[in-house]
Amino acid sequence: MNKDINKLIDLQTIDLQIKKFDEEMSAGNIELQTRTETIEKRKQEIVVFQEKIDAGEQRRREIEADVEDSEIRIKDRQTKLMNVQTNREYQSLIKEIEDSKTLVKNLEEEAVHIMEQAESLGQKLTEEKNVCETEEGLLSEKTQEVEKLETGLQKKKKKIENQRKKKAKALPENLLQKYEKILLRRNGLALAGVTNGVCQGCFMSIPPQQFNELMKRESLANCPTCSRLIYYLPEAETE
Ligand SMILES: [Zn+2]
Repeated sequence: MNKDINKLIDLQTIDLQIKKFDEEMSAGNIELQTRTETIEKRKQEIVVFQEKIDAGEQRRREIEADVEDSEIRIKDRQTKLMNVQTNREYQSLIKEIEDSKTLVKNLEEEAVHIMEQAESLGQKLTEEKNVCETEEGLLSEKTQEVEKLETGLQKKKKKIENQRKKKAKALPENLLQKYEKILLRRNGLALAGVTNGVCQGCFMSIPPQQFNELMKRESLANCPTCSRLIYYLPEAETE
């Protein structure tokens, strides 16, 4: 049994290595995904800025037309003032002229406000576009980096997976099955040492009786808490 313990220790070391490679690859891909999402968000912001600018421009054109209409009306009423017959008519024309002038003033103020807004939105849009371009450049560099890293990691993984096959073959079938079942359920750690009566997989104590048995290093057991396969690991051997 002692031999099996050592073989299992080797296998677990290899499996942890494979897990590390997988995690490194996934970390690279997650970073790429995060960067892509950030760029997408910026692009959506750019679209919103552009929509606001376009809406402002449309409103500005409406204002222009309204101002033109009002100016025609003012001129028309001013002409009519020359031939006015009654005081009532005169007052009414004067009021119309004044109202139109107020309207023109308000519309012109609104137009100025829209243009100021458009300028500030335009600046933000340009800034955002520049940032976007820079980030896209970085993303493309990072993508190449991650691809290169992944190729390297895949190679290493393949090599170590071949080693794993050999190690796994050397183990009794039922023990290997047990180990692999726990490996899946316990996040890649199926075998844990027990040091000073504490399982190094879940850091819970095991009963003293079980620990005494384990210390003989003749057999494996299951941790009563995390059910990992456990073996005696003297303190000096821990890292
Ligand atoms: Zn445990």
